[in-house]
Amino acid sequence: MARKFSGGALIIASHNQGKVREIGLLLAPFGAAVTSAAERGLAEPEETGTTFIDNAILKAKAATIATGVPALADDSGLGADALGGAPGIYSARWAGPEKDFGAAMEKLQIDLGASENRGAAFVSALALAWPDGHVETTEGRVQGTLVWPPRGDRGFGYDPMFVPDGGAQNFGEMEASAKEAVSHRTLAFEKLVAMCFKRA
Ligand code: IMP
Repeated sequence: MARKFSGGALIIASHNQGKVREIGLLLAPFGAAVTSAAERGLAEPEETGTTFIDNAILKAKAATIATGVPALADDSGLGADALGGAPGIYSARWAGPEKDFGAAMEKLQIDLGASENRGAAFVSALALAWPDGHVETTEGRVQGTLVWPPRGDRGFGYDPMFVPDGGAQNFGEMEASAKEAVSHRTLAFEKLVAMCFKRA
């Protein structure tokens, strides 16, 4: 039986504004008093894990230990089928210290080369950690196709080159609510809600 979040303060253990915005919207119905790790001035822990789940746990634990408040972390990324799942857990790092996702998408396009396999998946691992060391985790995935050139100015990261299966637009062109309806983060979140949250 998973542990329930009992309400009150909750940290979103991320410095990525796009993620904080999306997770904040997802958390809205649950009466949590949400602040982000960036707002609290917490350091970003080094992501030394080898899986999305490992890195989500590491980030959630760092934030809950630093604050004494439960913390929710997402570790996510995009994996191209033709590249054996790269960039995967290195999705943010491909953009370099400048967080230049234009350059990261270009690298992805170059690495794909003439490959006819343009399949890819976004994956999100969530970890909800408490100060006593307890952690609950979930994972969500959305399959799609990588398009070139990138289009759209919504979303963040690799959104402008990812069209989810069954969709006509890429994540960078879709309204936030349309992305939320199908996204990897929403799927992981729905699992976490079923396990750990009650509607306020
Ligand atoms: P991390 O989980 O903070 O290590 O970084 C995840 C990285 O994966 C982000 O910086 C983005 O580049 C990418 N990513 C994860 N989720 C999304 C998404 O919903 N849209 C676009 N890019 C994403």
